[in-house]
Amino acid sequence: RPVEKMTVEEAAKEADELRPKIIKWGEDYYTSDNPDVEDSVYDAAYARLQALEAAFPNIVTEDSPTQQVGGAVLAGFTKVRHEIPMLSLGDVFSEGELDEFNQRLREHVTEPFDYNCELKIDGLAISLRYENGVFVQGSTRGNGQIGEDITANLRRVDSIPKKLSQPLNVVVRGECYMPKESFLKLNTDREAAGLPTFANPRNAAAGSLRQLDPEVTGRRHLSTFMYNVADYETVSARTQSDLLAELQDLGFAVNVDSRVAHSMADVADYVQEYTGKRTTLAYGIDGIVIKVNSLPLEQAIGATVKVPKWAIAYKFPPEEAETVVRDIEWTV
Ligand code: NAD
Repeated sequence: RPVEKMTVEEAAKEADELRPKIIKWGEDYYTSDNPDVEDSVYDAAYARLQALEAAFPNIVTEDSPTQQVGGAVLAGFTKVRHEIPMLSLGDVFSEGELDEFNQRLREHVTEPFDYNCELKIDGLAISLRYENGVFVQGSTRGNGQIGEDITANLRRVDSIPKKLSQPLNVVVRGECYMPKESFLKLNTDREAAGLPTFANPRNAAAGSLRQLDPEVTGRRHLSTFMYNVADYETVSARTQSDLLAELQDLGFAVNVDSRVAHSMADVADYVQEYTGKRTTLAYGIDGIVIKVNSLPLEQAIGATVKVPKWAIAYKFPPEEAETVVRDIEWTV
């Protein structure tokens, strides 16, 4: 039923029914790295809740999944407080919605700006802290404010530099992922050993990092793409595209498929190109991210409690639409 035709009572009732479902799916996904439903099912329920709450702001509850960064801290890990929170990303599912995001932003920002287009790596967000250029602590996003200390595990990930080319004090953020090939091999080995398999590379990466034996992480062939710093004043770059180059110079693995877009037509070209290239990449992507390219402008635009207002994720449709054949009643 379209939200425009609903009364506030009807919307509140539907939202109250949706929230516990979404929370439960979130727990399975973030806490146990073991999703119960396909991402598209989760995304559809989440988008519906978001639409109901947007149409009737009075029905928003404090514990609504739309008001919190999804994630948890597992027992057994030391907690790390993120001085600068690790946020999620707002998402859209069509180019039309991408244009709406752009229009909303342009209405509020008077100065001209470009976007940096990046691949949305299907992994797990990590935060790496360096003191005088030396890697001292690595953590998960957790609930955005408090994550898990996984330093020992991240030391076993080859692409993470243990010492930077400059003696910087910096917190660098990005994605830890499992390449498709490692994922397939891991699941084949697990099946042969009679162990449960992982649902997808994202869950395999998360499960490999959020366990207590660094040796296991070391054997799992994880990799990283770093794309952000907690505070841009700790680096020289003033644009997102320069930041990626600077991170690479510092020694980080950076995805080379990003591109500056001067217009929404450029963004559309990028979306189209990587929708086509998606299956040929060695790692999973679940969409593309566009970010305002100026770092000071990003800061000025700010964020909600959950997502930055200067970026948006365009999510691809699910990779293979599941064919569900239900019991067919033959009436002949
Ligand atoms: P998200 O994963 O959709 O987007 C935010 C994350 O994108 C960031 O934290 C970052 O880790 C990542 N990212 C990857 N590449 C990036 C780049 N280039 N720049 C910036 N960030 C980048 O949001 P979320 O809140 O972490 O999770 C929601 C997603 O998880 C939904 O897509 C949903 O489908 C899935 N989910 C599924 C279930 C389920 O039961 N199947 C449950 C909960 C969540």
